[in-house]
Amino acid sequence: MLYDAVLLDRDGTLIEDVPYNGDPEKVRPVPGARAALDRLRAAGLRLAVVTNQSGLARGYFTGEQMRAVHARVEELLGRFDAWLVCPHDDADGCDCRKPAPGLVYAAARELGTTASRCVLVGDIGRDVGAALAAGAAGVLVPTPVTRPEEVAAAGWVATDLPAAVAEILRRQQAVQPATPPTAPVRTALVVRSDSAGDVLVTGPAIRAVAAGAERVVLLCGPRGRAAANLLPGVDEIIEHPLPWIDPTPGPVDPEAMRSLTARLGAVGADQAVVFTSFHQSALPLALLLRMAGIDRIAAISDDYPGSLLDIRHRVPVGVPEPERALSLAAAAGHRLPDGDEPVLRLRRDAVPQRPADLGDPGYVVLHPGSAASSRACPPEVATRIVGALTDAGHRVLVTGGPDERAITARVAAAGGTDLGGRTDLAGLAAIVADARAVVVGNTGPAHLAAAAGVPVVSLFAPTVPFGQWGPYRVPTIRLGDAAAPCRDTRAASCPVPGHPCLAGVDPDEVVDALRTLAVSGGGSR
Ligand SMILES: [Zn+2]
Repeated sequence: MLYDAVLLDRDGTLIEDVPYNGDPEKVRPVPGARAALDRLRAAGLRLAVVTNQSGLARGYFTGEQMRAVHARVEELLGRFDAWLVCPHDDADGCDCRKPAPGLVYAAARELGTTASRCVLVGDIGRDVGAALAAGAAGVLVPTPVTRPEEVAAAGWVATDLPAAVAEILRRQQAVQPATPPTAPVRTALVVRSDSAGDVLVTGPAIRAVAAGAERVVLLCGPRGRAAANLLPGVDEIIEHPLPWIDPTPGPVDPEAMRSLTARLGAVGADQAVVFTSFHQSALPLALLLRMAGIDRIAAISDDYPGSLLDIRHRVPVGVPEPERALSLAAAAGHRLPDGDEPVLRLRRDAVPQRPADLGDPGYVVLHPGSAASSRACPPEVATRIVGALTDAGHRVLVTGGPDERAITARVAAAGGTDLGGRTDLAGLAAIVADARAVVVGNTGPAHLAAAAGVPVVSLFAPTVPFGQWGPYRVPTIRLGDAAAPCRDTRAASCPVPGHPCLAGVDPDEVVDALRTLAVSGGGSR
């Protein structure tokens, strides 16, 4: 299951917002709240309220009045398993006032679970920010007071509380197989083409398939091969480019397709699960798999598949890629075994020792580049970020691929250590795993950080939805202009002069984000 608990903001989410209300008589639930909460309770989810009440600090009402309000809320909406209140004001600098993650951590503790197994529903950016900073999921239910930029930045938006609850329960259900596989699976062929990040986010789904099959063979492309090597549950890898998936494909070579078909046939798979992004088609490969003699094929396809698929799965937009893939695995009869959390993970034996000359753990990794330049941090911004982090007492390692050496050298000159071109993906995973935090765009290393449980300051270009591609189940703070004109264009190179989505990032925002994530210069995580 994805979630143990649902955390709810109070004012504007559960009840109508009456500023600094100390009067139980003024409590008015939002429409449909009681029935929605009862659906969650019936599904076995625990409920907590997480609420900023700076009116306490300001003396607008007493603790006793607040407790009377909460008693009235429970009278109208039923019991909550925990109430977590921040009594402070912004000026107090506490770690519990949302968007700080403290209340989310405290609620998870009190409910006997972890933040990553919680989903928080709130009406403003502070709520979603607190959820993400703790590694929880966050659902925004906008009201007239919600600012448009808060709506743009949220990865998951619902029209009202009942709709948020319906989608939480739907996502929870979607990763559970309705029925086990119709016949035992000896060899499963799983397919995930495209780049390292795509392969990494498919990891949980591949582990789910591996839990239900004796042997897993993964077909990946050349750009995803290094990531495929890192995935638990994979017994064998076939590497082959797919011209209907690759961004700069060569012409279709009939001989190469014939030899791929023969190779896929030789796998002897009794089931194939074809993972794709929403704009990619699984059908050309499904045809090759049919020609290779595989007779149980599952894939997500909005396009009519005719007889190419046995399981045609469909997923609404906005679902995080790891869950989207897990739901396909579930449709094919597979689920993660108990105890295997639906998080990104890497094979321990595939990640090497970190080079000794990098000194102690506890540095911050800044990875300015990306295979798609539209998602890279502008070098001048990255340079100023290194300067600001160094001034704040952080030790900064600047990482990048062999073709990014010029950029990493320039960026690191502001005070960091230049590791450009020094590591392959596995070596980078080792360096990321010992970082206190990673500052990175929407690119592979963000998912390496998620797999290592290392907090991410995400410089996220909105070319694709944050809710689908943001770092998964790891403490994250999103920076950058989510409403920039490149939004949802899927552009590989920025279509807007000046790369405005990330050019406006203020280096001090990165320093503040690290503080919110409890990553301090010279301190411990
Ligand atoms: Zn507080």
